[in-house]
Amino acid sequence: MYQSQYFIPTLKEIPNDAQMPSHQLMLRAGLIRQLAAGVFSWLPLGYRVLKKVQDILREEMDAIGGQEFLLPALNPKDIWEQTNRVEAMGDVMFHIMNRDNLVLAPTHEEIIAYHASQSIKSYKDVPQIWYQIQNKFRNEPRPKSGVMRGRQFLMKDSYSLDATEEGLDLSYEKHSEAYHKIFERCGIKFFVVGASSGAMGGSKSQEFMVENPFGEDTCAVNYESGYSSNIEVAISEVEPVGKIENCPEMEKFATPNAKTIKDLAEQFGLEINRCAKSVVYVVDSKVVLILMRGIDELNESKLQSFFGTNQVRPADDSEILNVFGANPGSLGPIKIKENIQVFADNLLIGANGLISGANEDGFHYKNIDMERDCKIDGYADFRTVLEGEADTISGNPLKVVNAIELGHIFKLGTKYSEALGAKILDENGKEKPIIMGSYGIGVERILACVIEQNHDENGIVWNKGLTPFHVHILGLGYDKSENVQKVCNELKVNLEKIGLEVLLDDRKERPGFKFKDADLLGIPVQVIIGDRGLDENKVELKYRSSGEKIEISPTNIVENLTKFYEI
Ligand code: ATP
Ligand code: MG
Repeated sequence: MYQSQYFIPTLKEIPNDAQMPSHQLMLRAGLIRQLAAGVFSWLPLGYRVLKKVQDILREEMDAIGGQEFLLPALNPKDIWEQTNRVEAMGDVMFHIMNRDNLVLAPTHEEIIAYHASQSIKSYKDVPQIWYQIQNKFRNEPRPKSGVMRGRQFLMKDSYSLDATEEGLDLSYEKHSEAYHKIFERCGIKFFVVGASSGAMGGSKSQEFMVENPFGEDTCAVNYESGYSSNIEVAISEVEPVGKIENCPEMEKFATPNAKTIKDLAEQFGLEINRCAKSVVYVVDSKVVLILMRGIDELNESKLQSFFGTNQVRPADDSEILNVFGANPGSLGPIKIKENIQVFADNLLIGANGLISGANEDGFHYKNIDMERDCKIDGYADFRTVLEGEADTISGNPLKVVNAIELGHIFKLGTKYSEALGAKILDENGKEKPIIMGSYGIGVERILACVIEQNHDENGIVWNKGLTPFHVHILGLGYDKSENVQKVCNELKVNLEKIGLEVLLDDRKERPGFKFKDADLLGIPVQVIIGDRGLDENKVELKYRSSGEKIEISPTNIVENLTKFYEI
């Protein structure tokens, strides 16, 4: 490919609305352009890489027996209504104004279950793994970070259909292995976390994560021990608050200037963990109080799983005053109205010597003993794991990091097949719903994550597998020197003969300009050819990742690059 004829609109300046390095570099290196908020056009150079990512996805999905589909983005709304997901998706789903019976698909579980219901009739027809690489539409509320979170984005989604739980386990395992291979082949450093299944339902789900300061997920990890978990479900080893000896009788005391746990602990010289915090939530429209250690934060996902509903929200101040007769900061489990349920975090099991609000502004109780003085409706793990706590595998400190979700694997179960009547006859002729799994990868996110992990101040550093071209030949003074033209073109032909993709910078530009652009584009090897070197029968090879340069005779380049690319 001749660069003078190839459309690579590079930018010198960092576009000011782009914050993530990958977003900046994809714009600067001419891989993408934004068309609207969350909507991007792939330009030729970017699309070359995107196709290589798709090749890897197809190879690995085919290797586990996946069969490729292409399902439409336009979907009949009534199919989505059968699973109640028009309502569940809310504003995230795009609706079509002049066709009220159609929506744009944000994912494809329903359509898969629909096709299965038509044609999969017997246990003999499964297992099936159906996949596609296709555009999804989601009206994301905050599209930012470029293609990392688009409103139209490419997903590799796949779905498994099985007759038994064991069959689902196997399909899930196959996907897990394929996902490991895919991300390894793409050169991405990732970790896997157990995740909350959220609104999708189903039993087991894991996410493939990439640590990144811009990530919108939070995870607790210890790379050495291998513990990693989404913060939504993360656990750790923490000493329970426990008992103090000879805990005196419970006693009310005045705390007029203590509005927070910190005030209370400081003003009265109390141990912060024994200052129990009362968090008030509305769960399915009922007010509940959750008691936890003073330093802990309530984990809403854990609360949702405990109560088995996603209808949970913090109570507001007026609701609290109304129900407790006191303001936040003075609430507690003692002398609480009969009809309010009280739950407590596991770390408070058996604790005593606790301090908590008296449900009367400006007063607290001290010397509370959970067993002696409180009526607790249930204990559970309600807290959010904190940085530095011991992981449950090695006991060593956990790190809490931001992360980007690259892929997600779900054991869906029968929720969708039941709703859409996708049933099969088992070996005994008994009708059963098909057991489904659902598995997704953000194709564009892979590419953006690769750039996040592989760039420097000068530009992108592609790996050998995904690079848009294998070799970047920089012809210095190409427009003026016939000799440079001759050597460049011969080399290009010879490299293409052995299957390497070559970009030849034949533009009428100064060397410094070409060097800068080449580093920005990030092709793994640059071959720098100019008259000065050729006079001594030398050209320069520059490796983009190390910056190392070697001088070599033009006749040795093909051999050198054959080795470099292990052809
Ligand atoms: P997120 O929490 O980041 O919104 P999700 O849980 O909604 O992701 P899934 O529905 O599981 O994602 O979709 C499967 C994969 O599709 C994700 O793991 C992610 O890589 C990708 N993906 C999801 N939303 C987007 C988006 N708006 N833009 C680009 N890729 C996305
Ligand atoms: Mg999402």
